[in-house]
Amino acid sequence: MSIQQNIQSIREHIPSHVQLVCVSKFHPNESIIEAYESGERIFGESKVQELCGKYETLPQDISWHFIGHLQSNKIKYIVPFVSLIHGVDSYKLLEEINKQAIKSEKIVNCLLQMHIAEEETKFGFSKEELNEVLKSGTLRELKNVRICGLMGMATFTSNKEQIRTEFRGLKTLFDELKTGYFASESSFCELSMGMSDDHQIAIEEGSTLVRVGSLIFGNRVY
Ligand SMILES: *Cc1c(COP(=O)(O)O)cnc(C)c1O
Repeated sequence: MSIQQNIQSIREHIPSHVQLVCVSKFHPNESIIEAYESGERIFGESKVQELCGKYETLPQDISWHFIGHLQSNKIKYIVPFVSLIHGVDSYKLLEEINKQAIKSEKIVNCLLQMHIAEEETKFGFSKEELNEVLKSGTLRELKNVRICGLMGMATFTSNKEQIRTEFRGLKTLFDELKTGYFASESSFCELSMGMSDDHQIAIEEGSTLVRVGSLIFGNRVY
């Protein structure tokens, strides 16, 4: 199957309120162009250097999402052009994004990454950690950061009920925050969950942004 055919078959079951992030990490520009020519405009990358290289050489109307684990010292390279940073998982990172955003005279869109999987290795805030950040009140002082919602990754398992339960928990938290802490901020409206293997479950559980890589571009060669 070609990239174009893959996109077509994915598009068939994605409702119009859900955005497709084409995860192009480790794939060459030619593959991205093929997806671009099928009409895709949102691409996700997880390495700063790779993202910057692609940004410089590919069409300017691409909306670039950073979906990886971001290191503080690299934020400055992506802030000038990135559309959305999915994986923000510490207050320190938010502070640094804010600092770089001020320098670039920009408001940077971010999603808070929540730890919903059972694996220790996946990044993200615990509910307790997030509560502490929200309670401290200092988040609202970061004027150049816009919190657009939450992001999460389910456990890597074939147990679909477990995946569903984890996504459902994240959606519940999202709804609580949307009607609570973020009630006055209409920009808090995105829930990034679901990848190639579990995006259909994620959509059923309320995802608004699915991050799909291998189902579009094939397996990555690391
Ligand atoms: C790589 C990656 C994806 C895409 O994974 P696929 O299984 O290839 O769809 C989605 N989200 C994050 C955070 C990733 O790092």
